[in-house]
Amino acid sequence: MRRREFLTAPAALPAAAQAIAEQTEELEIVSSHEHLLSEEERYALKPNLFTLLGHYAADDLRSAGLSGEPKTWAGIEPWWRHIRGTGYGQAVRIALRDVYGVEELNAETVPLLNERIAAANRPGLYERVLKKMARIRYAVLDDYWRGEPSRPDARFFVLARKLDWFCSVRQASDVRRMEEVTGVAIHGAADLKKAMEKRLEQSLAAGLVAIKTTLAYSRPLHFAVVDEREAQADFDLVMKAPQPEPPRRLSDHMFHHVLALASERGLPVQVHTGTLAGNRGMLDYTRPGQLNPLFLRYPRVTFDLFHTGWPWTGEAAALAKMIPNVTVDFCWMWVLSPVGARQALDEMLETVPANKILGFGGDYRYAELTYAHATMARAGIAEVLAGKVARGWCTAAEAVETARLLLAGNAARLFPQRRA
Ligand SMILES: [Zn+2]
Repeated sequence: MRRREFLTAPAALPAAAQAIAEQTEELEIVSSHEHLLSEEERYALKPNLFTLLGHYAADDLRSAGLSGEPKTWAGIEPWWRHIRGTGYGQAVRIALRDVYGVEELNAETVPLLNERIAAANRPGLYERVLKKMARIRYAVLDDYWRGEPSRPDARFFVLARKLDWFCSVRQASDVRRMEEVTGVAIHGAADLKKAMEKRLEQSLAAGLVAIKTTLAYSRPLHFAVVDEREAQADFDLVMKAPQPEPPRRLSDHMFHHVLALASERGLPVQVHTGTLAGNRGMLDYTRPGQLNPLFLRYPRVTFDLFHTGWPWTGEAAALAKMIPNVTVDFCWMWVLSPVGARQALDEMLETVPANKILGFGGDYRYAELTYAHATMARAGIAEVLAGKVARGWCTAAEAVETARLLLAGNAARLFPQRRA
């Protein structure tokens, strides 16, 4: 088959690298992390170009100077030119080119794109884009915007959900809402843990295969060991008056309980580490090394370090090298930093056991962008492996076997379609 072009037709690759790239393209993917809308939700949208730009690319547009949401071509044009080369910009361009047949985003092509995006938004899109184009066998779905955990479409997804809500109690109304959705009466920290357990049961009934946490968006990843009495003091505080931030002792105590439950149930925990989505993050909260005490305290829990902890990829690699129950996960990474991803993988393949490197998760809401991200990941993985073959680190056949592990084998083992 013709090797799919990455962004522009690359200079001819040496034959060995070409062969690895072609075989890597053929491999199926098990995506460790997606936020894809259900098909039903997707077809209920009236999407256009700006819908697609609204996920991640909007962050770079705002970082460049846009204020607000990308809504018109005139509004984004001054900024688009500065972000078309970033990973987010690349993903948009690949999606528009391969899914909608438009090579260049400009004033002339915007109306045509809007037309094509609208016309394609009907049943069959996911089959075409996710299965035929991206060759994704299935993906771990975090559909956090749906309140109640529900079983996702098994043709495409398995479920991951967060219990962060229970670790972020700030006011009495949070507690009342937890009582409503779990049916557990909550009078103190002990009940709060029971309510969390109930929520986990509800999620398991919907097919949960992993617990996810994005607490790094709102607090540092260091979780102190706090006894229930201290947690109760924070609980009392919250019930007396709304607090500006979730009190830390209660949050710490509850997160330890999340891990105790994960340990009991044999569930892996996907942890957000490294750079944050949006434009107002506290990067320092997200440093993966802060989790080190938890890895040792909960040896039966596999901690999957999302986004390879970028920019702390070396730190994530060191943790995954040293500690058996830590894995590194390249979800989001090939669009966050395409070069950083290649460098990190190059290093990790010679530091971290290959069965602990998860090579892809699209982390997108829209299927077209997940496809584009997968294209970037395949190209990056193939390039790194081809370099290793050239240096004699492995044979071409071994390189393809490694790619297979990174793209599907490791994620399929950690997040099986059916729990044992
Ligand atoms: Zn995500």
